[in-house]
This record gives sequence, C-alpha cells and structure tokens, in this order.
Amino acid sequence: MSTNYSKLLKNPRWQKKRLKVMERDKFMCALCKAKNKTLNVHHKRYERGKKPWEYEDDNLITLCQNCHQDTHYNNAVLATLAKFIMDTEIETDEIPEENKYELSQS
Ligand SMILES: [Zn+2]
Ligand SMILES: [Zn+2]
Repeated sequence: MSTNYSKLLKNPRWQKKRLKVMERDKFMCALCKAKNKTLNVHHKRYERGKKPWEYEDDNLITLCQNCHQDTHYNNAVLATLAKFIMDTEIETDEIPEENKYELSQS
C-alpha cells in the first residue's frame, strides 16, 4: 500500500497540485518561514482511499523538511500516547506515507 502511495506522489496531478500549494505559500515553510530548505507539501488530514491531489487546498500546507518531520513525529507520538493512556486507537492514516522515515506498526 505504501509503495502505491509513493507512486501516486509521482503523478503529474499531484506534482501540479503541490506546486500550486507551494506558490500559494510563497515557497516558504508555514511554520519556521524558511525559504532556502527543501520544501514538502503536507496533508493536514488523511482520508482513507483519497488520492493525494483530491484534497482541498485548505488541507495542504507547505513545510520545510525539518518541520515536516517534526509534524509527523509529533503526530506519531500523540497517537502512541493516546493508545497507551486511553487505550484508544487513533486513525493511523494520520501517520503519513509521504514521509521519509518509517514507523513500525505494533
Ligand atoms: Zn520549517
Ligand atoms: Zn506530511
């Protein structure tokens, strides 16, 4: 499933959407305002079965690589904590596949 997802990210429709979002955000990280770092377009919320380019622009945000990784790391930590403390499963779609590093599913 992850491999399909990375294939989708190479789709011209996503590339176009991504560029549009980066232009909107003035090619600047929305969190730390960095302009000279590698920029990623992050999905704030994931919906199962939705193609990356099928989301509203509002759901997409430009982040530099560092902030992007932090965001995903924080999401992953929160999901793990929630599971641990409240014994609640949180949608693991929150943990993004566009991401470089991998989280092991237990
Ligand atoms: Zn940043
Ligand atoms: Zn992301």
